[in-house]
Amino acid sequence: RAKEGGRGQLFFYEPVMDEKIERRRQLGAELHGALERGEFHLMFQPIFDLGSGRVRSCETLLRWTNRRYGAVSPAEFIPVAEDNGQIVAIGTWVLHEACRAAKSWPDEVTIAVNLSPIQLRSTNLARVITDALDATGLPPERLTLEVTESVLLDDVDASLAALEALNQIKVCTTLDDFGTGYSSLSYLTQFPFQTLKIDRSFITDLERSPASIAIVQTVVDLAAKLGMRTIAEGVETQAQMDQLRRTRCDAVQGFLLAEPMPANMVEAMFAGDNPS
Ligand code: C2E
Ligand code: MG
Ligand code: MG
Ligand code: MG
Repeated sequence: RAKEGGRGQLFFYEPVMDEKIERRRQLGAELHGALERGEFHLMFQPIFDLGSGRVRSCETLLRWTNRRYGAVSPAEFIPVAEDNGQIVAIGTWVLHEACRAAKSWPDEVTIAVNLSPIQLRSTNLARVITDALDATGLPPERLTLEVTESVLLDDVDASLAALEALNQIKVCTTLDDFGTGYSSLSYLTQFPFQTLKIDRSFITDLERSPASIAIVQTVVDLAAKLGMRTIAEGVETQAQMDQLRRTRCDAVQGFLLAEPMPANMVEAMFAGDNPS
């Protein structure tokens, strides 16, 4: 069935599209009050130092279990929360809960929290972060904020200013999903990141693509020259691990090593003296 679209072009009517829009609308409605109903919880995925094998950091991953729709993936609900502005309140809650959890971990272990572009551009970001640190007593050096590469170039000046404000309050920053956006390697020198997280797509390809090996090696070498640490995300096989060892990547994260786990399991892991 063809319908007349805007500007006179034809488009095909797809019931699937209506369903997606309707699902988004319903999730948006359910996100209202979700914090108050206690529907969110955090999982933490360990990040291992490749040299020592010890846990050096944990990434905070938000989970939502809704009264009507059950478990909803962050890949689905975060864009909805970004569209209707709820990500700011949710993100603030995540920061507080993450810092609170990390406070009871060993001093050398840091916590990584994903930051939405909406949060990065909010004027009071530094204040919100300082509040979370003050309320929990976590030193700023133990908090790392992960920012996705794709958003940086939308507004270079604003991104730079926001990142510098974060460095000013002494928290660390990680460039997440590196390789998926459009930034050239030379762009990296302009942004004050301490860590670069190489996107899972390159890690997945390591086993069968010499090009991916070359790309990962180049990124690791350049990052080292620029004084940045590198993390490989989404490590799923021993062959990928072996390859990453050869490239002298700093740290690894992925299902092969550890899946995201609840706070009490992280504490049990550290009680066993940070196993390798
Ligand atoms: P991300 O920041 O790149 O997080 C890594 C994602 O990869 C997580 O998915 C994690 O569970 C998954 N992962 C880890 N190891 C492996 C592996 O070996 N193989 C595969 N296939 N996947 C692996 P998750 O938890 O579903 O989160 C998806 C995305 O949602 C995150 O990507 C991040 O962009 C966003 N997100 C999660 N929590 C938050 C949050 O608190 N705030 C914001 N703004 N975004 C969040
Ligand atoms: Mg991340
Ligand atoms: Mg990532
Ligand atoms: Mg990713």
